Amino acid sequence: MLKTFPKGGVHPPENKLSAGSATKTLPLPATVAIMVAQHIGAPAVVKVAAGDKVKVGQVIAEGAGFVSSNVHASVSGTVKKIDSVLDTSGYKRPAVLIETEGDEWAEGIDTSPELNTGIPDSVEDIIRKITAAGIVGLGGATFPTHVKLSVPQGKHADLIVVNGVECEPYLTCDHRLMLEKGYEIVTGIRILMKALNVSRAIIGIENNKPDAVAFMKHCAATHSQTIEVCPLRVKYPQGGEKQLIKAVAGREIPPAKIPVDVGVVPFNVATVFAVYEAVQKNKPVVERLVTVTGKGLVHPSNFRVRIGTPISALIEAAGSKPDGTGKIISGGPMMGKAVASTDIPTTKGCSGILLMDEKETARRPARNCIRCAKCVSVCPMGLDPYLLMPLAEQQLFDRAEQEKIVNCIECGSCSYTCPSSRPLLDYIRMGKSKVMYNMKTRALKK
Ligand code: SF4
Ligand code: SF4
Repeated sequence: MLKTFPKGGVHPPENKLSAGSATKTLPLPATVAIMVAQHIGAPAVVKVAAGDKVKVGQVIAEGAGFVSSNVHASVSGTVKKIDSVLDTSGYKRPAVLIETEGDEWAEGIDTSPELNTGIPDSVEDIIRKITAAGIVGLGGATFPTHVKLSVPQGKHADLIVVNGVECEPYLTCDHRLMLEKGYEIVTGIRILMKALNVSRAIIGIENNKPDAVAFMKHCAATHSQTIEVCPLRVKYPQGGEKQLIKAVAGREIPPAKIPVDVGVVPFNVATVFAVYEAVQKNKPVVERLVTVTGKGLVHPSNFRVRIGTPISALIEAAGSKPDGTGKIISGGPMMGKAVASTDIPTTKGCSGILLMDEKETARRPARNCIRCAKCVSVCPMGLDPYLLMPLAEQQLFDRAEQEKIVNCIECGSCSYTCPSSRPLLDYIRMGKSKVMYNMKTRALKK
């Protein structure tokens, strides 16, 4: 019997249209717009000015403090300007615009494809390289990776959990990465095990990717460390860190606690690959894999894309925007965000661009709640979405706080399953952000 998380979850159609598409490298764009804040924490501080010449991999904005991250030029060329650019949030934010000239890399970066499995002895070197490379959670969380590597005093990590679940429908870039870079990922896991002084790692992969399960098992068996591959029953949102850690290790993260409180440090497979590239190749995060997909696209594909490339270039490469496209989503259909323009640039946290037609995205009108409790039974966090929505709608934020609205992981399972088409997550997300704001304000006053 395959493992999975015990509470809630849904089974949306998988639609993994691009699973068979081997990764192709997108041609260099004429210009890139590299967002200065692509991570959780303080925005980086810009270190270049209009007219400066830059090389690929050169730092263009430095992390401002511990919870922040460096940002690098993803192309070589001339900085055109520092400007405000629309991002997935719908707001304009600072970005460095670079006009591409050639493809000249900064000194010391190894761009060769040769596998290097000899990991460094020095933990300090490993952490320094990961910090310098600007690695953040590439599964979409964008939390700076070097911060995860300093386990807070009084806590102890004994297990790394690697997220190869990719439970969002349509997305396939992590699947392809495991098939194409399995040895590198295993080396990256060994580097992280060394950095955290942990002797065991588990890679969780849903069983709709049997080729990835088999190949990662093969790669993990090529050395002596304890790296297990755990095939999982397909269920959304298994990629949520609480759900994945419960599924593969049986450890429950209590409310308001983080994975290291139960001895676990989780990483996405793409983040682990970036760790390999940073430590073994001196290569910062200047590109990533992105799935470009949708039922109307001629060539749903997985592309290796330089950070800052406009998503319009990705869509063109997959066969151009089909007539009748209703929504373009950055991410998957469950947790992704609809974007306002195809000019927005690719960022470190962007794993997919999904084009959905008008029929797929049409919302049915919301009807009254019929108290069927389906939303309760699918909520993986044990919440009462039917109650949280009206509390947020009526701005009863203290009551919403008592009902633990902040525990919502915004997976959308409740909205997906509601037979009355109630916009549960829209209101819960709004209520959660207000309650979190209130909690922070109270904490600051203490
Ligand atoms: S309330 Fe939050 S965690 Fe629960 S199903 Fe809805 S979106 Fe997911
Ligand atoms: S699923 Fe929809 S109709 Fe059923 S209880 Fe929840 S909110 Fe009400």
